Amino acid sequence: LVSAQNHAKRTTIRVGGVPIGPDTFTLIAGPCAVETAEQTLESARMAKRAGATLLRGGAYKPRTSPYAFQGLGVEGLRILAEVRDVVGLPIVTEVMDAADVEVVTEHADMLQVGTRNMQNFGLLQAVGACGKPVMLKRGLTATYEEWLMAAEYIAQRGNLDIVLCERGVRSFEPAIRNLLDVSAVPMMQRLSHLPVIVDPSHAAGRRDLVVPLARAGIAAGADGVMVDVHPHPEAALCDGAQALFGDALDELARAVSTIPALL
Ligand code: PEP
Repeated sequence: LVSAQNHAKRTTIRVGGVPIGPDTFTLIAGPCAVETAEQTLESARMAKRAGATLLRGGAYKPRTSPYAFQGLGVEGLRILAEVRDVVGLPIVTEVMDAADVEVVTEHADMLQVGTRNMQNFGLLQAVGACGKPVMLKRGLTATYEEWLMAAEYIAQRGNLDIVLCERGVRSFEPAIRNLLDVSAVPMMQRLSHLPVIVDPSHAAGRRDLVVPLARAGIAAGADGVMVDVHPHPEAALCDGAQALFGDALDELARAVSTIPALL
């Protein structure tokens, strides 16, 4: 179902009316985690100023340490839905557990399956039946075949509105958190008809590399880029070191504004 075979053209999907696919370029931006209503609203305004047409933000956070901020849960979903109404950007947010798919579907325009859950088959089947588009992030050590098969679990339940997100894979280099696999963009676009985007924020784990990696993704033909932004990264409860603000965000906006000429 997700293979490029039997599909003459690559697919464009719509998230709350916003297209993601081969004939357009989509910037998704927002805070790593929803912390407060004010922080989410400010982040959404930053995202919009930078040219984003979709807002990201985590209400359920998959953290390495159980002592780290885990997200606001349903309260975070409510904040996201309120901010969507104010700024007019459809929202993408992660769901970590099949039991939460219903409530996340009620609030979100697109459900995200994160890297750590790429092969949580029960969750894949649940989002496959949810009736909303799904962003499927690549597993930390997943091959292209494993990633495609994970997407196939979603498609098999009747949901073909899937976007694949390359977010970096485990490497031997400790200076960066993960290694953005730029080859994944053209490879997955060849193997599948689904849109492919990159998340340079979660790949790099550090702000200074986010725009260069976004440019690399764009040059490789990504259908979109997803980045973290935060109005006060030094006080962020989650991944502040990778959040864009100020000049770095303006630089990203400039890079993105040149894309229509390339399409
Ligand atoms: C995220 O996008 O908030 C996230 C946690 O990403 P990943 O699953 O790629 O680590």
